[in-house]
Amino acid sequence: MHVSVDQDRCCSSGQCVLAVPTVFDQDEEEGVVRLLDADPSPELDEKLRTAAALCPAGAISLTEVAR
Ligand code: SF4
Repeated sequence: MHVSVDQDRCCSSGQCVLAVPTVFDQDEEEGVVRLLDADPSPELDEKLRTAAALCPAGAISLTEVAR
């Protein structure tokens, strides 16, 4: 799964960081999402879907990648 985030939409809720802390982090000052890993291992696909569903701002985009 390829991951991208829209920092302009992020409202700093932190749901993504709780769901997948190896992929998402938050800026220390404003809490805006930071992407740590845009192409994480397939084992994280389900957690990534959860993170995208939980994001109240719709700021997380997931793209299936062919393997
Ligand atoms: S869950 Fe969405 S709104 Fe919350 S920090 Fe992550 S990207 Fe931002």
